Parts: sequence; structure tokens; C-alpha cells
Amino acid sequence: MVLPIVTYPNKILRQPTEPVTFPLSKEMKKLTLDMIDTVRKADGIGLAAPQVGKSVKLIVINLEKEGVNIFPLYNPKIKSKSLKKIEVEEGCLSVPHVFGMVKRPKKVTVQAQNFNGEIVEITDDGWIARIAQHEIDHINGKLIIDLAKKYTQGEEIVKEWKKKKYI
Ligand SMILES: [Zn+2]
Repeated sequence: MVLPIVTYPNKILRQPTEPVTFPLSKEMKKLTLDMIDTVRKADGIGLAAPQVGKSVKLIVINLEKEGVNIFPLYNPKIKSKSLKKIEVEEGCLSVPHVFGMVKRPKKVTVQAQNFNGEIVEITDDGWIARIAQHEIDHINGKLIIDLAKKYTQGEEIVKEWKKKKYI
């Protein structure tokens, strides 16, 4: 089931999130499947639970177009990161019409749990690293508008939010 995507300045995007417990409840299984439907439908490359109004530590990464199976990560965190940072243009389904240059570590190791509750570690220096950092920010209440120093699109929208002191 496709869920509506919450957009900024909805306060849910800033709220602390609860850890996911295992075995997964029926609700968490359903939320996972619904988030997969939602990110596909929105043609997004990643989605975090707060973006569909749920304050839990769950993200999904969708690189199906790159030939990678879509997958959820529960309780994900950055275990280590490279000193080397790169700046990449990012957008966000919860911050429509805004794109900005965001600097992040190039390579990270993410530790998380899979669908079965097993601990998994992913080390990557490509799209997975980038998306995981963006989505982990979401479960910590952080958005691209907190990080972008330079905007490629929608800067006037961000300026308006700053004026209203949303940010
Ligand atoms: Zn986002």
C-alpha cells in the first residue's frame, strides 16, 4: 500500500525515533512493505519511516534501477566513515522542489539489522553510502536543508522557511 509522504515543515520529520524490536511485529512487517511500495511509486532512491509519519528506525534503499534489490535496514547507524568527503547534489521526497549540494564522507560502514534481525554491515563508497547517510539523518531528525550550503534549485523556498524560522 502506497503511503502519503510527509513534507517539511511537518514536525514528525524532526521527532526522535524508536528502535525497532525483533522478531518484527505484524505492523512493522506491513510498514516495511508499504515503504517499499511508497518509494517505488515516488520513484525515490531511499525512504525513512518518519517520511511516512512513523517515528521508528527503519529505512529502505531503492537502487533497483542499478540492478540492486530493494532492501530495508532496521536500526541503522554509521559505524565508521572516511575522512575524505565529497559534495553531491541531493533532493528529498519530504522537501519537494529543493535541491542542494551536500558534503558527506565518501565511504561509510553502516551497521544495521536485516528483516530477520541479524546484524549486517555494509561498506560502500557509492550510492548506497550516500543514500544510507541521507536516510540515517532522517531517523535522527536531520534534513538536507540543515546541511546544504549551496542550492541548485528552490533556494527561495528555503529562504522563506528561514524567514519564518522553520529551520
Ligand atoms: Zn530525504
